[in-house]
Amino acid sequence: MDQEQARRWLATALDEARAGLAEGGIPIGAALYGADGSLLGRGHNRRVQDGDPSAHGETAAFRAAGRQRSYRGTTMVTTLSPCWYCSGLVRQFGISRVVVGEAETFHGGHDWLAEHGVEVLVLDDPECVGLMREFIERNPALWSEDIGDE
Ligand SMILES: [Zn+2]
Repeated sequence: MDQEQARRWLATALDEARAGLAEGGIPIGAALYGADGSLLGRGHNRRVQDGDPSAHGETAAFRAAGRQRSYRGTTMVTTLSPCWYCSGLVRQFGISRVVVGEAETFHGGHDWLAEHGVEVLVLDDPECVGLMREFIERNPALWSEDIGDE
């Protein structure tokens, strides 16, 4: 897919991540784009804000998009490599593409998605890496809780 477009879309997910951080939450954001390039939904991790460990950036964006007849041609854009739960969501609903801001601070299921026919683009975005690095350094216990690494 077009790198320029992917980076423009990533900016939406990054806005969400920053909004989450400003709320005192985990800075992971996501956006779901339609086959025609329209923004269907956007959201961010709300574990802290809602006390809900299932409220991930990707699920928030997915829910915000409401019901779609088909997910063929849609793109999930996320600031961080998707966890297994969100990778499962991508396959369950047949989302065609995943744009990953970075997979350096957390390596989730994006290789598995690529092996199963999902088009995956990892952007290695320095801003996404910086956001997570700083967050993890300041909140190691919260981060461990989020990735189930306890
Ligand atoms: Zn997730």
